[in-house]
Amino acid sequence: PEQPSTLPDLKLPRNQFDIASVRRDFPILNERVNGHPLIWLDNAATTQKPQAVIDRLKYFYEHENSNIHRAAHELAARATDAYEDARTKVAHFLNAGSSKEIVFVRGATEAINLIAQAWGRRHIQQGDEIIISWIEHHANIVPWQMLAAEKGAKLRVIPVDDDGQILLDEYEKLLNPRTRIVSFTQVSNALGTVTPAHQMVQMAHRYGARVLVDGAQAVSHMPIDVQSLDCDFYVFSGHKVFAPTGIGVVYGKPDALEEMPPWQGGGNMIADVTFEKTVYQAPPSRFEAGTGNIADAVGLGAAIDYLDHIGMANIARYEHELLVYATRGLLTIPGLRLIGTAKEKAGVLSFVLEGFKTEEVGAALNREGIAVRSGHHCAQPSLRRMGVETSVRPSLALYNSFEDIDALIAALHRLKNLGA
Ligand code: PLP
Repeated sequence: PEQPSTLPDLKLPRNQFDIASVRRDFPILNERVNGHPLIWLDNAATTQKPQAVIDRLKYFYEHENSNIHRAAHELAARATDAYEDARTKVAHFLNAGSSKEIVFVRGATEAINLIAQAWGRRHIQQGDEIIISWIEHHANIVPWQMLAAEKGAKLRVIPVDDDGQILLDEYEKLLNPRTRIVSFTQVSNALGTVTPAHQMVQMAHRYGARVLVDGAQAVSHMPIDVQSLDCDFYVFSGHKVFAPTGIGVVYGKPDALEEMPPWQGGGNMIADVTFEKTVYQAPPSRFEAGTGNIADAVGLGAAIDYLDHIGMANIARYEHELLVYATRGLLTIPGLRLIGTAKEKAGVLSFVLEGFKTEEVGAALNREGIAVRSGHHCAQPSLRRMGVETSVRPSLALYNSFEDIDALIAALHRLKNLGA
C-alpha cells in the first residue's frame, strides 16, 4: 500500500500464516482503482476468487463440459464425476456425515426459500411458531414471513442486547411446544456478531424444533462442523467463500431431508414419471430439479480444496488478529461509532462517522481504491436495533493484510481531518 502506517505500535504478533503467498493467489488484488492498489474490504458482499478456482472453471469448459448423465458418453461421465466430487468436498468441508446430505442450490437465499417452502409448508400449520433472531439478513426473514402469512403461523423474533448479541434468556422464553423451526445466523452480516449457535441448537431441540443455521457469513472465517453443531439444516453461498456466484448449499440431516417433499419439479429429481403418478428420487437429487449449475459447483469444490490447503483454523486465527487490529484502529478515529460490539465477532466491522453520511464515507474510500459497502446491508432490523439506518461496513477475508487496515484507517483519518 502507498499510505504509510499510522498505527505501527498497534501491530499484533503474526502467526505462521503466509499472507504474501495468499495474496499472490488472488489475481484481482493486482488491480488498480482510481490510481491506487485495490483494497478489497467488501468480502461480506462477495469474495474474490483464487487462481485455482478460475483455472478449474476454465479446465471444466475446456475438457469436461457436459450435462450430468453419467452413462451417456465420456464427457458426461467426466462432468458427473466432477460435480459429485464437488459434493463430496462440500460434505468434508462441513463435516457432514455423507455427500447425500448436500443439496446444490443457487445460494443461501434459495437455500432458505427451499427449506421454508418444502419443509415449512409440510410441517408448519396454523398457530405454529417460527423463531428467527433480530440480526438476520433479509434472506432469513422474508421467506419465513411469507410462510407464516400463508399458514397462519406466528413469527417470533429473538431480541439482542445493545452490543448485538443474542439474549439467550429471551430466546428461552420464546421456545415452546408450538415452536416448529428456529432459523438464525451463525455470523451477522451487518454487525459481525458470532451467535452461540451450538447452545441455541440444543435449546431448540429440547422443544422438538428443527434448526436452520445460516452460515453465509461464517464459512469463510471459521471451521464448520455440522455434526458437532447438531443443526438440522445449514446453508451457505459459494460466492462468499471464494467460489463462483450462482452456487450454494443446503446441508440437511438425513431424516430432515427425508421428511421434506420436493420443491421444484422437473428432470433429475424423478425416479419414474407417468401421467398418473411420479416417483421422486431420494435426497439430494429430489431437490435438484433441472440442470444445475454444474461448472460453478465444480468451482466451489476447487475453492474448498484451496481453503483446505491453507487450513480454516489458520484462517480463523489470522483473521481474528486482523479484526482486533482493525477494531483498535477504527477506535482511534474521532467521532467514529462502532455498530455491533459483541465480544465474539467475525469478519465484519460496521461503523458510522459523525458529520458524514455513510455513502460519503464509502465514496471517499473508493477514491483511494478501498472497497467497502455503505448501506443497510440487507439487514434493516439489525441496524435499526442499533439506532441507525445505514452503516459503513469494511469486511475481511484471508487475503486482507494489516497494511490494508492501515490504509483504511489512514484514509478515514484524512477524511475526518478534511471534513472537520
Ligand atoms: N444470509 C446472510 C447472513 C448473508 O450475509 C447473505 C448475503 O449477504 C445471505 C444470507 C444471502 O446470500 P445470497 O445473496 O448469496 O443468497
